[in-house]
Amino acid sequence: MTEPVAAEVGRDFIRDIIQADLDQGKYREIVTRFPPEPNGYLHIGHAKAIALNFGIAQEFPGRCHLRFDDTNPVKEEQEYIDSIQADVRWLGFDWGKNLFFASDYFDRLYEWAEQLIRDGLAYVDDQTQEEIRTSRGTLTEPGKNSPFRDRSVEENLDLFRRMKAGEFPNGARVLRAKIDMAAGNINLRDPVLYRILHAHHPRTGTKWHIYPSYDYAHGQSDAIEGITHSICTLEFEDHRPLYDWFIEKLPVPSQPHQYEFARLNLTYTLLSKRVLTQLVRDGHVAGWDDPRMPTMAGMRRRGVPPAALREFVKRIGVAKANSVVDVGMLEFCIREELNRTSQRRMGVLRPLKVVIENYPEGQTEELEAINHPDDPNAGTRKITFGRELYIEQDDFMENPPKKFFRLSPGNEVRLRYAYFVKCTGVIKNDKGEVVELRCTYDPATKGGNAPDGRKVKATMHWLPAAASVPAEIRIYNQLFSNPSPDASNFAADLNPNSLEILSDARIEASVAESNSTEPMQFERQGYFVRDKDSIPGKPVFSRTIGLRDTFAKEVAKGVMHT
Ligand code: ATP
Ligand code: MG
Repeated sequence: MTEPVAAEVGRDFIRDIIQADLDQGKYREIVTRFPPEPNGYLHIGHAKAIALNFGIAQEFPGRCHLRFDDTNPVKEEQEYIDSIQADVRWLGFDWGKNLFFASDYFDRLYEWAEQLIRDGLAYVDDQTQEEIRTSRGTLTEPGKNSPFRDRSVEENLDLFRRMKAGEFPNGARVLRAKIDMAAGNINLRDPVLYRILHAHHPRTGTKWHIYPSYDYAHGQSDAIEGITHSICTLEFEDHRPLYDWFIEKLPVPSQPHQYEFARLNLTYTLLSKRVLTQLVRDGHVAGWDDPRMPTMAGMRRRGVPPAALREFVKRIGVAKANSVVDVGMLEFCIREELNRTSQRRMGVLRPLKVVIENYPEGQTEELEAINHPDDPNAGTRKITFGRELYIEQDDFMENPPKKFFRLSPGNEVRLRYAYFVKCTGVIKNDKGEVVELRCTYDPATKGGNAPDGRKVKATMHWLPAAASVPAEIRIYNQLFSNPSPDASNFAADLNPNSLEILSDARIEASVAESNSTEPMQFERQGYFVRDKDSIPGKPVFSRTIGLRDTFAKEVAKGVMHT
C-alpha cells in the first residue's frame, strides 16, 4: 500500500477540503483572508494563520486578503495597523491590492442592521450590560427574554437611528438580534449587534457613534469580499451557527464557509494579545519588539530569519485538535536556518586576558579564518594574532576535573586558525581571582596543526586584544520559567533571569564596523545579531539562540516527532 497523500508536509484537512471543492467545480478561485484586529502586534500564532491563509492562495488558484477587523476603536491604533502590515511582509507574504478594513463596510453593515429590524429580526434593548449578561442564562439554563424584545419595528428603527445620530450616552442601549433566548448555543441568545461608543476611530474618525460587534461584522465582511474559505481558530466554532444565521437572513453577495483549526500554543510562551499588551504596559519587557517577546517584531529584532518561522509553521502542520508545541521545535528551526545562512565570526563573551610570553612584543601577523565551513563561496577573512589575546573565562580552569580538556596549567590547546598554546602561569588579583594567563605558543603549529602530528583535545576561540572591540552582549532566556505559564497570573511565572547583559564582551573589529543586521555565528557561542541599541564605539549584540541543540538529538532518537 502507498502512503496516504495527506501525510505529506504541507497537506492538511483544510487544503483537502479546498482541493475537494475545486475538484467538484464549486469555485473557480479560492479566496482566503487574514483578519487581524489592530489592537496589538502580531505574534508567532498569527504567523501560523498568515502562512495558512496566504499559503493556500499561493498553492491554489486564488488570492488572500489582508483585512483589518477594526470594529473596536477603543483598543485599536494606527501603530498596530502599520506594524501588522510590516510583519506580514517580513514573513514573506503579499496581499497585493487586497487590503481591506471592516470599517469600509460600516455603511452597508448599518443598512443590513436596519433591514434586520424591518424583518422583525433585531431590536433595541435598553437593559444595562450587566442585565443583559445575567439574563443570558448558562449552559444548563435558558436565558430570559428582554422586556424590550417586542418593541415595534417603528420604535426600533427610530431608536436605532437616534443611537447612530449620537443622541444617547455610551452603554445606554444596544441593538440585538432576535433569535432565541433558549437556544442551546449561547451565541444564538439574542447577541449584540451594535453598541453605542462615542470614540474616535483611526479610519472613520468621529462619523460613527455606534459600532458593530465583531460577531456581526466578521461574517458579513467575508461575504462582501467574496471569501470562499473563512479560516479561523477553534474558539469560533460555536459562533459559526450565528454567522450562518446572518448569511441566511441578509442579502449578502456571497456565502463564505468557515473552517476552524487549532491555534498554536507553545511551551514557555503566552500568545494572547491581552497578556502581551500587559507585558509591555507594565514594563516587564522593553516594548513590543523586545527580543524576548513572541511577537514577530521581537523575533525580527532578535535575528530570527522569517524562513525559520515559515519552516516552523510548516512542520507543526494544521490540525483540528488543540495541542502545545515544544518551543524546542521553534529553536530547532531557527538553528537550522542560521547554521545554513550565517557567517562565522569570533566573539568572546567573558574575556580572560592571555599573554603569549614567547611571542615578540610589538609583532602581529594576519591569519586566515573561514567564513562558513559548508560554503566555500562565503570566503575567508583575516584575523590578527599578537602577543596579547582574549579567551573565554570558561575555557580555563586552574584545577581542572578529569575530563576538562580545555586550557589549564601545563595543558596544550589549539587556538582556532592560529597556533597551539600551552599555559605556563596564572596571575590573580587580591581576591584570588584569575585575571590573566601566561602562555607560550609553538611557532611550528601555524594554522593549527603540528608538523610532528601531536594532537590536542580542544580548539578554542579567541580574539586579539588590540584588534578586537568591546561590545555589550545580551543573552535571552525564556521569558517565563513555567513551561505552561498561567495567563491569568502571568507575572508570577515570569523568569527573573530572562535577560543577561554581558557588558565586557569583545568581538572581531570587522563585526563591530559593519552595520549589517544579518545574524552571524560567534563560533562555539551561538548566533548573534546587531541590536538597534548600538551606539558608536559600543555595539550591542543580541544572542538569537545558542548552539546547544538538545531538541535535534531528541528528534534523532525519535523521542519527539517533527
Ligand atoms: P487574542 O490573542 O486576544 O486571542 P487574536 O490573536 O485572536 O487575539 P486577532 O487579531 O483576532 O487576534 O487574530 C487574527 C487571526 O489570527 C485570527 O484569525 C486568529 O484566529 C488567528 N490567530 C490568533 N492567534 C492565533 C494562534 N495562537 N494560532 C493560530 N492562529 C491564531
Ligand atoms: Mg481573536
